[in-house]
Amino acid sequence: MELAQQLLAAKRDFLVPCVYHFYQRPPVFVRGEGAYLFDSDGRRYLDCYGGVSVMNAGHSNPEILEAAIDQLRRLQHTTTIYLTAPMLDLARVIAELAPASLRRLFFCASGSEANEGALLLATLATKRAECIYLREGLHGRTKWAMSVTGLDMWRTDPNPLVTAHAVPGSRHPESLATIESLLQRGTIAALIAEPIQGNGGIVVPPDEYWPELRRLCTQYGTLLIADEIQTAWNRTGRWFATEHWNVVPDIVTVAKALGNGFPIAAYITTDEIAVHYTRPGAATFGGNLVSCRAALATLAFHERHRLGERSATLGAYLMGHLRALQQRHSIIHEVRGMGLMIGVELRDAAGTQAAALLDTLFEEMKDAGYLLGKTGPGRNVLTLMPPLVVERAELDSLVVALDRSLART
Ligand code: PMP
Repeated sequence: MELAQQLLAAKRDFLVPCVYHFYQRPPVFVRGEGAYLFDSDGRRYLDCYGGVSVMNAGHSNPEILEAAIDQLRRLQHTTTIYLTAPMLDLARVIAELAPASLRRLFFCASGSEANEGALLLATLATKRAECIYLREGLHGRTKWAMSVTGLDMWRTDPNPLVTAHAVPGSRHPESLATIESLLQRGTIAALIAEPIQGNGGIVVPPDEYWPELRRLCTQYGTLLIADEIQTAWNRTGRWFATEHWNVVPDIVTVAKALGNGFPIAAYITTDEIAVHYTRPGAATFGGNLVSCRAALATLAFHERHRLGERSATLGAYLMGHLRALQQRHSIIHEVRGMGLMIGVELRDAAGTQAAALLDTLFEEMKDAGYLLGKTGPGRNVLTLMPPLVVERAELDSLVVALDRSLART
């Protein structure tokens, strides 16, 4: 049996069926380098999804690997009940990168955990129990994180927490008014939202949206949690996406690209809010030594190679070319994004969502050597979040391949 078939059979036999994968004919990946992945037959693919906005500094980045291997050889794990330096070095670096008031961190291992932690902290700090989330948002797979996930596909729990209130997202004119009417109750601890919704289909809010969220939350004593798990670390051209609108949230959650493939996550908050969490708290893998050294090397790499500027410039360049494609292919309904976080929404002639067509295109592009993402409530948004080390010529080749594939479908 071919390797992919063997692995699919093992997946069917041993994993919980919810573990979902892309492609009808999935390649088996065995190696990564920079913006490329290689399969077991030696075929090369331009990775335009970056492990879902994780591999911002590129696959098998030698500088990051060096730091992680050095730490592995010295000391791999202790937990936070013992004193070690890398977690505190990383906390200091992140505190310096974040807006001035956000200088206190709690480290954990995954995005879902960071969001759970942020919501818990908000309930402690406000002495309120309820929260608000946006309908097209995604915040994770654990109980509370799933209860504040609006996207139907990722909202499996038949008994979500009743203290979580869904509101229409930034695309809907009634969004802010609905939020305000809930905030007026005086019972809302936190509002959690992604600055740009990732799984929701790369939804970029109007410029006034986040400043308004900030103003409303301040007015009603509710904490504003920005889930920057997909958007942080230069994905949108800035360290944090909320910087685009000069908004300072009360709590920011981060994960994914912070460790460039090593599991690490955190929430970042202010002194005034953090002071409410004094009972013992610990995450076994929070502040893991290897992950922290990898994250330190990742952030240093970002700085040295100016990945923020790169993301902004290459993102604008790619979006320009995708908009030119839109002129030729009526199936492209909209191209949107910030930096190298880009969505290409497809709709067919009837104006309905073109999920089936996207799947054909998606499979074809993979066979042509390009891995794309797909998002949106209707799964009709081609999603591009390549490693930020990608070269302009590689983006050119992606546009040519996409043009060809669109012409065929
Ligand atoms: N928030 C956002 C915005 C995400 O995109 C994700 C994962 N795709 C999560 C939270 C959950 O992160 P994790 O899978 O690390 O728990």
